[in-house]
Amino acid sequence: MLESLRRIVQEVNAAGELEAVLEIIVSRVRTAMGTAVCSVYLYDAVLDRYVFRATEGLNSDLIGQAGLAVGEGLVGKVAKREEPINLDDAEAHPDYRHLPGLGEERFRGFLGVPIIHQRKVLGVLVVQEAERRRFTESDEAFLITMSAQLAGVIAHAEATGAMGSGTDALRTATFHGVSGAPGIAMGDAVVVMPLADLSAVPSRRCDDPDSEIVAFQRSLAAVRSDIKSLAKNMESQLRREEHALFDVYLSMLDDQALGQEVVDLIRGGEWAQGAIAQVMREHARTFEQLEDVYLRERAVDIKDLGRRVLAHLQQAVEVEREYPENTILVGEELTASMLAEVPEDRLVGMVSVRGSSNSHVAIMARALGLPTVVGAQDLPFIRLDNQSVIVDGYVGQVICNPSADLCQQYERQLEEETRVSRGLDALRDLPCESSDGHRVPLLVNTGLMSEVGRSLDQGAEGVGLYRTEIPFLLRDRFPSEEEQRLIYREQLQAFHPKPVTMRTLDIGGDKALPYFPITEENPFLGWRGIRITLDHPEIFLSQVRAMMKASVGLDNLRIMLPMISNILELEEALELIYRAHEELLEDGLELSLPPIGVMVEVPAAVYQAQEMARRVDFLSVGSNDLTQYLLAVDRNNSRVAGLYNSFHPAVLRAMLSVVKGAHAEGKPVSVCGEMAGDPGAAVLLLAMGYDMLSMSAYNLPRVKAVIRQIHSDDAIALLKTVLRLDNVRHIQESVEEFLVERGISRHLRPLLAV
Ligand code: PEP
Ligand code: MG
Repeated sequence: MLESLRRIVQEVNAAGELEAVLEIIVSRVRTAMGTAVCSVYLYDAVLDRYVFRATEGLNSDLIGQAGLAVGEGLVGKVAKREEPINLDDAEAHPDYRHLPGLGEERFRGFLGVPIIHQRKVLGVLVVQEAERRRFTESDEAFLITMSAQLAGVIAHAEATGAMGSGTDALRTATFHGVSGAPGIAMGDAVVVMPLADLSAVPSRRCDDPDSEIVAFQRSLAAVRSDIKSLAKNMESQLRREEHALFDVYLSMLDDQALGQEVVDLIRGGEWAQGAIAQVMREHARTFEQLEDVYLRERAVDIKDLGRRVLAHLQQAVEVEREYPENTILVGEELTASMLAEVPEDRLVGMVSVRGSSNSHVAIMARALGLPTVVGAQDLPFIRLDNQSVIVDGYVGQVICNPSADLCQQYERQLEEETRVSRGLDALRDLPCESSDGHRVPLLVNTGLMSEVGRSLDQGAEGVGLYRTEIPFLLRDRFPSEEEQRLIYREQLQAFHPKPVTMRTLDIGGDKALPYFPITEENPFLGWRGIRITLDHPEIFLSQVRAMMKASVGLDNLRIMLPMISNILELEEALELIYRAHEELLEDGLELSLPPIGVMVEVPAAVYQAQEMARRVDFLSVGSNDLTQYLLAVDRNNSRVAGLYNSFHPAVLRAMLSVVKGAHAEGKPVSVCGEMAGDPGAAVLLLAMGYDMLSMSAYNLPRVKAVIRQIHSDDAIALLKTVLRLDNVRHIQESVEEFLVERGISRHLRPLLAV
């Protein structure tokens, strides 16, 4: 059973178009279960019915015609109850509804299971038998498993189909994800892909097939010669059978048919990379479906060959990539380096299929003020290249090929946004204080040099979190101590005399350095942040020395330690910093020891906030990780993004307990996670007594505008109310209501995902 399940899912996955997906499902499930009938009904939102979409065994003339309303007939009942129905005699059931012409009357045994994707019933999968019998428990389990595995593929194929295809005029289609960075962007999609990844190559039209064919043939020749020399170099080390593999490769490359298929596609208007990816994927799929295990394994070779040709093609065109004026960067998983490749003045928005609102790409997007949607799982991104797209970063949706009406609607929203932003400019030099004069300095989170100007323009009172890993991420090796000193000096100088809080290297989790790969089962609970740098004191010492040297004569440096989970780690890190400081004094540099702080971002540190505060000069709460660890919700996983919420009562109580711990030792405490940049959450943090808030430059004026309109007594009353509430939805509603009552614009209201 497991094997046939695996094969069906694999075949369906490869089918692409919805019609093909459904046909494969009904045919293969019928064979695997040995039933007389298998059919699929899918929900049509316009008709509000479950429409008969595919069958083997019933009258296929009625495909697309017949259907049942929600709750109507057995199919409607399966959908409504979200449960299987297993009957030995369907017709005898009181809910049975006869659909004329379908030919069901010949069949008695009935088993229907719902097809559910992300809590939504997409449709119903039905098998039927002529004889009067109940399906066995194992049949039922098989069909449920099948349906659960196929739901995602069906949802994806439906979403893709919604856009139209091939030569049809493209239709407006909306895809949902979560907000990565607020704002609206309208522009043209540029799909970016990791190098040599056959599954990520977008389909793109080419204007000059002849030169694409030449490029393809050049790459083919290059791979042929690579393989020949590889085979030659390894001649002595390989056994005969292994050597034969190289011959297989070479014969595949010589195979006219395969090359010819690629050339035909290019002549049909597809670019060379798209053509090679399509042909290789298709051939690999054929091999994967073969019964013979040896032949099935050859799919791996085909993919490898495809990747090699693709890599050569990509190297040849790397420099030619052009970005339109209003580029919307789209990719399966966007990375900081993909973002860095687009000229800054051309990039207006981003869409990532993977990730969630607290992934680092989203944090960078917020820092850069780029409207972004992440976790748009059903987006057929490889077909989006060059298409017109609207990114609605407020609600987390992407609209492809928007109609003229929709464009006008969004243009009006953009105007309103610009009006609000202009109003915010006037606040630049005003202090951030409540209407009764309670001051809360607002600082910025930075990482890129390009953010500095924007931060100062927004009236930042310093840097509350400088993510030092970002310059590390954009290189191909660890920067030297002197290189680091120069980078840090630039930051310190730009903000001088305002304070700059530099966090020591925080890699691991979802932040992998290309030149220092870490492979772990569970990276967020693994080798991260301070754990890595304590294991590599040479990296830590050189970094803190570079920071301190950079601050000579400026004295505005603060050092902050990420991911501290116990006192021993903290003491070890402090020892290393004291040692680095002494070494520098011995070298004759004149500098005082900078203030040192701990990031509270692990639940253990919440419970030891006071003991930690006693040993350092300040605390800063990393609410992004703290929320992730308190709620056991991976901040990067779009499947559970709905559960990630910093308004959760447990998070609010933890935040309150950290302030108490720090203040009991007379030490200041700030928040530098995204929570601080949410205008609604900032009101609660002010009421809790946080001394400073640090956020993206984009959010800073928004938070200031809100705080300046609030009386601190009202903020305290709101905090008291929400601390009595036991669920996140009610808390968020109370905060929203509080802001609405005070006439605070929609553009300034909470941004954190629900
Ligand atoms: C945090 O965890 O809240 C934080 C500020 O650090 P980062 O987002 O870089 O992990
Ligand atoms: Mg963190």
